Amino acid sequence: MVRTVPGRTDRVVVVGAGLAGLATALRLRGAGREVTVVERGPGPGGRAGRVEDRGYALDTGPSVFTAPEVLADTLAAVGEDLTDRLELLPLETSYRAQFADGSHLDVRADPDAFAAEVEALCGPAEAAALRRYLADLADLYRLQRGTFIDRNLDTPLDLLGPELVRLVRRGGFGRLSRHVERAFTDDRLRRLFSFQALYAGVSPFRAIAAYAVIAQLDIGAGVHHPVGGIAAVPRALAAAAADAGVTLRYDCGVTALETRGSRVTAVRTEDGGRLPADAVVVTADAPHRLVPGLRGPRRPVHSPSCVALHVGVRTELPGQAHHTITFGAAWREVFDELTRLGRPMTDPSLLVSMPSATDRSLAPEGGQVLSVVAPTPNLDRRSGGNPDLDWAALAPRYRDELLAVLEARGWAGITGAIEVERMDTPLTWAAQGMAAGTPFALAHTFGQTGPFRPPTLPRSGPENVVLAGSSVQPGVGVPMVLISGRLAAERITGPVQRAGTAAPARLEGTR
Ligand SMILES: Cc1cc2nc3c(=O)[nH]c(=O)nc-3n(C[C@H](O)[C@H](O)[C@H](O)COP(=O)(O)OP(=O)(O)OC[C@H]3O[C@@H](n4cnc5c(N)ncnc54)[C@H](O)[C@@H]3O)c2cc1C
Repeated sequence: MVRTVPGRTDRVVVVGAGLAGLATALRLRGAGREVTVVERGPGPGGRAGRVEDRGYALDTGPSVFTAPEVLADTLAAVGEDLTDRLELLPLETSYRAQFADGSHLDVRADPDAFAAEVEALCGPAEAAALRRYLADLADLYRLQRGTFIDRNLDTPLDLLGPELVRLVRRGGFGRLSRHVERAFTDDRLRRLFSFQALYAGVSPFRAIAAYAVIAQLDIGAGVHHPVGGIAAVPRALAAAAADAGVTLRYDCGVTALETRGSRVTAVRTEDGGRLPADAVVVTADAPHRLVPGLRGPRRPVHSPSCVALHVGVRTELPGQAHHTITFGAAWREVFDELTRLGRPMTDPSLLVSMPSATDRSLAPEGGQVLSVVAPTPNLDRRSGGNPDLDWAALAPRYRDELLAVLEARGWAGITGAIEVERMDTPLTWAAQGMAAGTPFALAHTFGQTGPFRPPTLPRSGPENVVLAGSSVQPGVGVPMVLISGRLAAERITGPVQRAGTAAPARLEGTR
């Protein structure tokens, strides 16, 4: 039986209009609650941010959009059809993987086309291994989604059941690196199916094999592009929420929660306002800084952080893919540097996204927008990070280094063509209140996953405060925080009977 907030819950205030806050608001509104979302920023999105300048639209947060069925299900909570709010284009090539030996592999959404690419690069045995691996991933994801991801977990006992036994039998608790080594002999494929562990904040050499399923979300199920960029996603959610009767207040930071006895009774805002509430949902990164009496995790391990460089360039860069993972020659060293040695990668592996290759609304004629995400150590020594890295001084040099790497790896001519630019470092995230200066929250170590990750209904603090977002269950990334919105709402409404999480017909037909 899932624990829920006791007593009245008619009026709910949601702190934060990021994806988690918006998803929570839609779910609560769909269940008939009176909902106000209070956001300190000037608009919706939070980490899924947007800078617009001289005709370039730079998405400053996520670039890889996966699991559209979760977004569709979120909008369905207020009776909306995703296709009425947003156009999602399936990418034929989910990623281009570029390797240090000069070869590259296009990860195609169509499994036959992908297997053909793998056969051409690595031979028929690896192509056969790929088919087996993809089938296995899809199955493993189904298994884990029901057990670990799509439900509120209050104790490890909640996991006990046949699915857990199957997961153990399938080696889900061994090492991810061993898991991919057993599946593939070609080192390039091993990297391709394990770099995603970094999205979860752990090295594949330490992550459990269960995290192999992250590759199901992007490589297995395919990547989509929301027309108008990722920022169109929170905008669509906010518009649907407003139309459904949610009140959205921007430029309105919450300064304190007012309590009486064991409950929060109102939310105080920086403009001197007071919003009475029967329940409050907090989606801020380190909620214990705002919620009186809430204990933070005892020995938190934070994910590595990143430097994100976003540029608008007046050059066409023909032939470049929408998403490229460019691998350096170094591999194990990369993870050691990021998670143990506390220094920036010496031979970097980078995610480079050029969404204007697909969506011409994002850049002016003859231009492109590029985002480069370079994982870096975070600022917390106990998490393997490094508080002594002086990012204020390092940033300009690191920018030049990143651009030099890109020039050498095929994006020739971008440095001289930059017209607009924005760079975020661990200092940026720290200034926004994110613990350890990382936007990727608590790492998905075994001890911070599933029932061991902070639950959406905490066991300390006021009884009517609920949490959502990447610091709590189920975890980090766009699909996960949207799911956390549902889990949070269900702590207030109780489980809601759902029609299912099937994608709308048009999306199903695209793959
Ligand atoms: C550079 C980068 C790249 C990424 N790449 C990907 C990717 O490719 N794919 C993917 O799936 N995910 C990616 N992510 C992760 C993803 O963006 C996040 O997991 C997700 O957006 C977090 O959403 P959230 O709602 O939990 O938090 P947030 O978006 O941070 O929302 C919290 C909101 O609360 C507001 N807030 C905080 N305190 C207060 C207060 N006191 N009063 C009022 N408002 C407050 C904040 O302003 C913010 O808007 C990336 C993130 C970054 C930064």
